[in-house]
Amino acid sequence: MQPPPIGPPPIGAPRRAPPPIGAPGADAGARDARSTHDWRGAPGRGMDGPDARAARAGEPNGQTHAGGQTHVAPGAVAADARAGAGRGAPAMGSSGGFDGGGGFASASAPTPGAPGTGIAPPVTMGRAMGGMHAPPAMGGMAAMAHGQGMVPSTASAPPIGAPPIGAPPQSPQYPPQYPPQYPPQYPPQSPMGMAPQPPMGAMAPPPVPGPGMPAMGGYPQAGGYGAPAMNFVEDFASLNLGPGGGPGGEAGMDPATFPRPGDDEARPNLELSCDPKYMRLTCGALPSSPSLKTRFAMPLGCIVQPLRPGDETTVKTAHFGSSGIVRCRRCRTYINPFVQFTDGGRRFRCNVCALPNEVPVDYFCTLDANGVRRDIAERPELNSGTVEFLASQEYMVRPPMPPSYFFALDVSHTAVNSGFLKQTVEVIRDSLDVMSKKSERTRVGFLTYDSTLHFYSLKANQSQPQMMVVAELDDPFCPMPDDLLVNLAESRAVIDAFLDMVCDTYAQTQNMESAMGPAIQAAFLAMSHIGGKLLVFQSCLPTLGAGRMINRDDTRASTDSTKEHLLRGPVDGFFKKTSAECSRHQICIDLYTIAAPFSDLASMAVLCKFTGGELRHYPGFTPDKDGVKYAKELKNNLTRFTAWEAVCRVRCSRGFRICAFNGHFFIRSMDLLALPATDGDKAYGVHIAHDEVVPSTNISYLQCALLYTSAEGERRIRVHTMAVPVVTDIAEMYRAVDCGAMGAFMARLGAERTLTVRLQDAREAVMTKVVATLREFKLLNTQASRAFNRLIFPESMKLLPLWIFAASKSTAMRGGPRDVPVDARIAAVYDFMSASTEEILKLLYPTMHALHTMPEEAGTKDEYGRVILPPRTVLAGERIDARGAYLVDDGRRLLLWLGKMLDPQFVAALFGPSGPPSADVDCNLPHLDTDVSRRARAVVDDIRAEASRARHLALTVVIQGHPSETQLFPYLIEDRGAANVPGASSYGEFLVQLHRQVSAAQR
Ligand SMILES: [Zn+2]
Repeated sequence: MQPPPIGPPPIGAPRRAPPPIGAPGADAGARDARSTHDWRGAPGRGMDGPDARAARAGEPNGQTHAGGQTHVAPGAVAADARAGAGRGAPAMGSSGGFDGGGGFASASAPTPGAPGTGIAPPVTMGRAMGGMHAPPAMGGMAAMAHGQGMVPSTASAPPIGAPPIGAPPQSPQYPPQYPPQYPPQYPPQSPMGMAPQPPMGAMAPPPVPGPGMPAMGGYPQAGGYGAPAMNFVEDFASLNLGPGGGPGGEAGMDPATFPRPGDDEARPNLELSCDPKYMRLTCGALPSSPSLKTRFAMPLGCIVQPLRPGDETTVKTAHFGSSGIVRCRRCRTYINPFVQFTDGGRRFRCNVCALPNEVPVDYFCTLDANGVRRDIAERPELNSGTVEFLASQEYMVRPPMPPSYFFALDVSHTAVNSGFLKQTVEVIRDSLDVMSKKSERTRVGFLTYDSTLHFYSLKANQSQPQMMVVAELDDPFCPMPDDLLVNLAESRAVIDAFLDMVCDTYAQTQNMESAMGPAIQAAFLAMSHIGGKLLVFQSCLPTLGAGRMINRDDTRASTDSTKEHLLRGPVDGFFKKTSAECSRHQICIDLYTIAAPFSDLASMAVLCKFTGGELRHYPGFTPDKDGVKYAKELKNNLTRFTAWEAVCRVRCSRGFRICAFNGHFFIRSMDLLALPATDGDKAYGVHIAHDEVVPSTNISYLQCALLYTSAEGERRIRVHTMAVPVVTDIAEMYRAVDCGAMGAFMARLGAERTLTVRLQDAREAVMTKVVATLREFKLLNTQASRAFNRLIFPESMKLLPLWIFAASKSTAMRGGPRDVPVDARIAAVYDFMSASTEEILKLLYPTMHALHTMPEEAGTKDEYGRVILPPRTVLAGERIDARGAYLVDDGRRLLLWLGKMLDPQFVAALFGPSGPPSADVDCNLPHLDTDVSRRARAVVDDIRAEASRARHLALTVVIQGHPSETQLFPYLIEDRGAANVPGASSYGEFLVQLHRQVSAAQR
């Protein structure tokens, strides 16, 4: 590349320091001020708007966090800043419709047939499902498969507490867009289908549920909570764990009866609430007192995913008059469907803090006879739990930033030789058109590094990029800070020229060094005046400058079991400090690494965690194995919907507060998540705790608000609001558990814990919570608990033991410190901490399909045009037939395992004359004109299409007897696994162990 590098600068060359925080006139200072104040309602300037001061003045009882008024405006935090304005139950009495109270008014006095009141009695499962002598029903696989209670119904409410046994939950308000799930999971016929006897002993086919079987799973409706928990002693399910006489061994167990997952889609809980795909509670009811929560034992929380992919165009935008977005002047809750309009429409009562607010003149509308605003149909903010607001000037302290991408490319020997650099450059080139189409303001910049840092001036008026080399690593600087991040459209020709030549420039490099830390420091200097995404592509351990590392994978830490976790934490504070600084300057770091066998992800991952970024690890990258996957995933990152300079807060009603978080973000001002960039694929865990005051109402509200800048340069606020019943009876809590969300939430917490404690301790911490809650449940069911060989649990929680068991077998948590390569474990931990509930559940219990016994319809389309997948197979070795072919999907990759006795004709029909590909490539099934090929391809294509768009499921084919077949074993989680792995047990043994602990704890 010409011109030749300019050597190290003379000593004393001017350097650009980062703008001091808070310096007058510095963007950074202004940003910082906004970040800490505006969302909270700093008087007069922040996003809470000018009336915050008035709110403060008018609120004698306003309390603040200990943080004081500098950072916390009174009233900003719903949970702790509400004055004791007499708050009774919200006025109810509307006949449903869009009046938020309507749905709950009927909770204690249901009106049969009232539209929209949504009362459904709790379904009593006891006699049908969990009765002492009806264990086979538990194993009814089909019942589980259809057990999500998704069937739309128009039924009126029958008398509470006395539903006909076997009646499905009534769910009049479920919109019809929830069609029955396909395919049926674990069909009642033998999983082996037409296969001959399996080699390791046949399973008894699971019992076929009768037609009157009630739907299972899902949690009951709001209406259930006002009702007394009648018949609760019979409202449980159970599992036979022995022949009787004591908490037994495995002898009496029938694994076919064990609960297994079907589709774990959350159900909308209450009318007008946002869809749970945005906010999914671990338990759809909140306890009225801390003591109730203690008895419940399991974590209360919710997984929020404010921007789900695919809904960019479906979420409606609300418009306000010149007075701006309407919010409660005390707690700053955004207007939502649950506020109550009073006084002829001149006031509204805040649903979170009960404060009566004046309706701004230009927002006024008269009410109809039911007290509902006449314009409600045209007001998305009043008729939908999810809405976007266009933020006005007062929500900005600087012009909205442009989408900005800065690429820090490792150009050392490994990066070049592996093809990683070439692939990266190709993907960037391939994405530029889309990036430029998304916004004409898009900016990009590049930096390459090995033992030195190389900067590229890409000014539009140049014909060629100009490179400058900086060899100063101890205190790196940025030679042309203003020319590095350039407008993509204007400088496109220079950028293309750079991408054309960068690979050639380093093609012959023998440089094995990597100054990653200094490269990030320099990138920070180049970006700090704008912010944006910093994408770092790293091929080896950093060896030079700040953040350099040694290979600590083989040190004493591994032999001293009390210190095993140290290898899972950062080696020093450099990366954490850097990431905190980046977050403050709106820089989000995404890290792509390929080093194998050890790249110290534990140290580097904090860069992603604290800046809201993501970590992607492709160990031992080769184009054949990882090329397509890497290319698709990187391209998705560069072209997907991205929200810039974002902050997120969850508010909740009086009596509750948000106390902790789990995920990738930096916390500011106690409860504000700073997200320099975020997107629909990121989810965050939010812990809910009791506040000092006791909840005084039977409905509580959660509101999640994400303020961000769109690619087009609009400042927008995405708001989700949800109503949650507050209950006094623990039985109601048990009924309302959302098992999938609870499992995913506990897996998140467990995974995070492995970073700071021993693996064994992390697993036990999760187990302890489940034991505690089942013990409590057993106390409620004294009669049932007399059967010593029976594990009893709430119907809603039947899958929880499996999720906990699967979490203990996951890459993040299983075995001892050496049973999983530490980088793989770290990648899995951080994956858990940013993934959605559905993705986590898929990782915990992947789907496995037998292809050799595909029923005729599998691989064809159903009446809705969806591909019918083959039935799921239980993840146990004894279900694996040497004459079979099994496809495993964990949402991250696909594995196709071929038994060594598989029919050669089947193999030929699937792969053609050349046979299966080797195990070290990511393959596509060849296009052959055979029935097997067509249907298998349809299945694979459909699974890939349905997976998260942020992931490409690479397909690996492994053959029984070949060393690569071991890749299958970690997926067979129901097996005991390798005997030397600590904590390993089979699903059955785990259930027995759980039962023993529950029983022991009780005595
Ligand atoms: Zn309020």
